[in-house]
Amino acid sequence: MTDRPEVAACTFCALDQEQVAMLIAGPAVYICNNCVELCADIFRKKKSGALDHLKTDTGEESPPEAPDYPCSFCGETKDEKIAGVTVFICDDCVAACVKVIGDNPLHAGKPHSPDGD
Ligand SMILES: [Zn+2]
Ligand SMILES: [Zn+2]
Repeated sequence: MTDRPEVAACTFCALDQEQVAMLIAGPAVYICNNCVELCADIFRKKKSGALDHLKTDTGEESPPEAPDYPCSFCGETKDEKIAGVTVFICDDCVAACVKVIGDNPLHAGKPHSPDGD
């Protein structure tokens, strides 16, 4: 009905390109700057061991990890990845997205005037 396929939306949080500061396109998926930052934060905590206490020591045999689905962005099966609703993103792709966002002036205070100063 009001499905507008021409509007790209983040595959992770479902916000469209008009609702986020930046949307990064993968082969068949999108991720917004908010989700990139979220994922980067999770990976940072994982690597620093901050999430170690979340590991199951409740006697369960199998951890609630997703099976080896490939990253939705690079297609590679990595150990370190984060699951979205229907997609996965690995740490390498998160790092790449962080770099893309860092290279773009997301928070430029005022629009650049072509008239110069
Ligand atoms: Zn998002
Ligand atoms: Zn990847």
